[in-house]
Amino acid sequence: MIARIRLAIEERRARWEAICLKCGRCCYEKEYRGRSIVTNYRKPSPHLDTIDNSCRVYDARFETCDRCRKMTIAHALFVSWLPDSCGYVRHYRHLGRARAPRRSAARLNSGTHSPR
Ligand code: SF4
Ligand code: SF4
Repeated sequence: MIARIRLAIEERRARWEAICLKCGRCCYEKEYRGRSIVTNYRKPSPHLDTIDNSCRVYDARFETCDRCRKMTIAHALFVSWLPDSCGYVRHYRHLGRARAPRRSAARLNSGTHSPR
């Protein structure tokens, strides 16, 4: 029974990760421009390999980088700094067409980077 639950969790994680296109565009500093938060593509995460867009510390990213944030469905749906080309945005936002309540958006935009 426990093995089946573990397998189901692993499969779910693999399906979630497969949505990511590994473009690395969420791994840059975010900053305010007016009232919007945008990505500054001149300031990559120190752990991003900008040649192949891979994370050099992916398996230990949350322990290694205190600004790295877990990607969630809420990010995919609501944050302003994810590109339209992001796999999660394509997958969820274009299904939902929803808008974030202001307080939630502020919380979602905290932190500087977002992981896959
Ligand atoms: S996944 Fe996290 S630690 Fe890795 S490059 Fe992106 S922001 Fe940095
Ligand atoms: S989460 Fe989105 S923006 Fe980040 S690497 Fe994956 S596809 Fe690219």
